[in-house]
Amino acid sequence: MQLSTRTQHLSSSLVREILAVAQQPDMISFAGGLPAAACMPELDLSRIPARFNQYGESQGEPAFRATIAAHLQTLGLPVSAEQILVTAGSQQGIDLISKLCIDPGTAVMVERPTYLAATQCFRFFGARLIELQPGESGPDLAALRTQLARERPAFVYLIPTFQNPTGQCYSLATRQAIASLLDEFEVGLVEDDPYRELVYEDCERTPICSFLQRAKWVYLGSFSKVAIPGLRLGYLAAHPALYDALLKIKQASDLHSNRWGQYLLNEFVQSPAYPAHLNALRQHYRQQREIMADCLNQDFAALAQWERPVGGLFFWVRLTQQHDMMALLQKALANKVAFMPGQPFFADTSQVYPAMRLNFSHSNAAQIKLGLQRLHALLTESSRP
Ligand code: PMP
Repeated sequence: MQLSTRTQHLSSSLVREILAVAQQPDMISFAGGLPAAACMPELDLSRIPARFNQYGESQGEPAFRATIAAHLQTLGLPVSAEQILVTAGSQQGIDLISKLCIDPGTAVMVERPTYLAATQCFRFFGARLIELQPGESGPDLAALRTQLARERPAFVYLIPTFQNPTGQCYSLATRQAIASLLDEFEVGLVEDDPYRELVYEDCERTPICSFLQRAKWVYLGSFSKVAIPGLRLGYLAAHPALYDALLKIKQASDLHSNRWGQYLLNEFVQSPAYPAHLNALRQHYRQQREIMADCLNQDFAALAQWERPVGGLFFWVRLTQQHDMMALLQKALANKVAFMPGQPFFADTSQVYPAMRLNFSHSNAAQIKLGLQRLHALLTESSRP
């Protein structure tokens, strides 16, 4: 069998390995972005009409797409159901866009740091990744202007609301300024928004796509964080000029996403149980965040810096001195606590970034406390000259 040249760009399986080890029953895992199992809705399979056993439309179920479009309209994104494509999680949206836009050498601009499975996908298709300089609230705008003037990327990939891994949420002014820069340079935007409903304090969440006038865009949504990740259901909403090509790529990829899940999720998100579920989820995760914040404040101040995230699932903990992060990770795993090292979140691999992404949704209060005690002990030991 002859392999494609693309396979040379397949990145390391380190992250998969960490996540696999993190699944061990006695492991306290801050590594993945797993929703709490207890917070997942129970969906009744017996309710699915038999016609949903048949093949369906590549776009997705019409009723489900109408529900999604109506939801996006409430966010200020004036889309119709004809602009919605149901995907196998938002990760498939990232894949479809990569197939649409990336040839070997194509420039793609990303945040520093950014979601590692997006850069993994962009790289696989041969993208040349350009990191945006971080600013106070999202990318530094002056630097973004300079970068856009110098280099025209296929698109800019952003996670403006509860960014992965930093948890950052862009201000309204930043969102508007980015939109006007993208309009000015006519550079497309891919806005990835899987965490927007996991909000713990008032903050700006209007999609940047909704401010765009000239630039083309794709908005990615997901049901993984608010419902059940194993269903593998998300969606994209696309500028009309991009939709047809994305649909054909989806068709060629997997014909359509699973119909049972679309039926059940459509019923669930339209029911009165859904807003109640979201409130319960927010309340639960807000408490988890408080517990992690308290533990960090108590023990980590001399070792690291972090901001308390206003939404999402992660603390981004920057260590104040260099550590051998791989050695630290190995010791942590041996001590039955897992974290995600910061390095794979950076597109620029030439530098070393001593940081950890810590998830607070998957562990209970006692596990968060114990896991952070273990990490603290290991970090203190590793800090000794
Ligand atoms: N984008 C971001 C920023 C994510 O953090 C994730 C999941 N961790 C995804 C996309 C993929 O999510 P899914 O495919 O489950 O919708």
